[in-house]
Amino acid sequence: MDVPDAPSLTMQIHRLNAWSDNYIFLLHAGNAAAVVDPTEAQPVLDKLNELGAELVAIFNTHHHGDHVGGNQKLLAQYPDATVYGSDTDQGRIPGQEVFLNGGDTVTFGERTAKIFFVPGHTRGHIAYYFAPIEENHPGELFCGDTLFAGGCGRLFEGTPAQMVDSLSKLRQLPDNTRVWCAHEYTLSNLKFAVTVDGQNPDLQSRYAQVQAARQRQEATVPSLLGTEKKTNPFLRWDQPALQAAANLQEPARVFGRIRGMKDMF
Ligand code: ZN
Ligand code: FE
Repeated sequence: MDVPDAPSLTMQIHRLNAWSDNYIFLLHAGNAAAVVDPTEAQPVLDKLNELGAELVAIFNTHHHGDHVGGNQKLLAQYPDATVYGSDTDQGRIPGQEVFLNGGDTVTFGERTAKIFFVPGHTRGHIAYYFAPIEENHPGELFCGDTLFAGGCGRLFEGTPAQMVDSLSKLRQLPDNTRVWCAHEYTLSNLKFAVTVDGQNPDLQSRYAQVQAARQRQEATVPSLLGTEKKTNPFLRWDQPALQAAANLQEPARVFGRIRGMKDMF
């Protein structure tokens, strides 16, 4: 499925559906393409055929199977494609050739992405941020399972303190940054969010919008980071409403309590 409002002249972003609720993102510039977190190969191969583009890079955010599952099959078709992933994920990402740390950069066509090291969901998780190169255009954040629309990833290999630190880095990006997260979890995330931040009018209206969008079977990804800052409880550990819901003050403890409540929700 194409994202109708993808504005960049230098890099088109195609959102592909995979499995029950995963999104794969195909970046396209000229006759080159790169893929972020190929759950499986076939939707990517189909789109490459349709575009007449050649795969030059696989950008993985972390090692989970629903993010790297298509690596090997894509490499079999495109042996020259380079697989990028976290340095901390060495040995866990099929075909990985480039081992990235926070602050590194990667290029695709004319675009450069900065790497953010965002452990918490997994110990090696990274995010790719393409800063805008045209005025008034958004940056593009590919954040895997760290930040979701209305939520965040579960803490499988990290602590609340690590995740707060990771999300703090992402929260500093501009409000008009587009958040390309890897799952369509928004409705269930917001269903939880209103139980801890129910008096937040921005959250109330977002919840209504997302309910309507999902009823029409529309995707809710990408979202805007500014919307996340105003409505996502996992970016709002310093807000009085969330501190009250957690009955705690300190950021990592507020976050940890809210995350725990979501795990049980
Ligand atoms: Zn994951
Ligand atoms: Fe995932």
